[in-house]
Amino acid sequence: MLLVFLGAPGSGKGTTSKKMVDLHGYKHISTGDIFREVIKENTPLGKRVKKIIESGELVDDKTTWEVARHALEQNDLENEKIILDGFPRNIEQAKMLEDWLLEKKLDMPKPQYFEVSLDVILQRLSGRLICSKCGRVYNVISDKPKVKGKCDFDGADLYQREDDKIENVETRLKTYRDVTEPLVKFYADRGDLILINGEASSETTAEISLSFAEELKN
Ligand code: AMP
Repeated sequence: MLLVFLGAPGSGKGTTSKKMVDLHGYKHISTGDIFREVIKENTPLGKRVKKIIESGELVDDKTTWEVARHALEQNDLENEKIILDGFPRNIEQAKMLEDWLLEKKLDMPKPQYFEVSLDVILQRLSGRLICSKCGRVYNVISDKPKVKGKCDFDGADLYQREDDKIENVETRLKTYRDVTEPLVKFYADRGDLILINGEASSETTAEISLSFAEELKN
């Protein structure tokens, strides 16, 4: 089963996904996480992606679809529980995904859209810390690690994403408004959008997401 998470940066898609991985046996495909791994490899592609991500812009559709499709193909979408987080992010990508699913004779699930206010987004992004090993998300105010600067699960160092620095957040939010909001409207107009209150705790958003996933199964 495939779930698709949509929402602004900081809307809780990644944190909710990690909860669903830890507690409910989901696998998490995040194009942002994949790109961060690509960057670590320091290849020409990694260097190109690094520049784009750090500036707050989007990676081009062709490259993004290649990595998303490759990740999807590693999984059994009919029998495993998969979350696709951060893809699609524009209408073109949505079409690529839907065409591919159609070829595989699979349905496009109704996307789950995490709604949050701008204040919450800014508070989350400016205080967000990420585990350098497992990608778990913390917040210096609302979700502190037990030991400062270290991940609760594996003890690895936490870091602030370059694109979470205030100078880059503005570009990311503008990109989101210009490119991803029309996609949200596209699904809403089609009557396909599932709304999730992204301001609730990650335990709650995971429970809500799961209850919609149960409906998809029936
Ligand atoms: P995220 O972790 O989802 O916030 O993604 C971090 C960055 O990766 C984004 O700001 C983009 O630069 C890039 N990225 C992730 N997903 C996509 C996508 N579907 N299309 C284009 N760029 C993406």
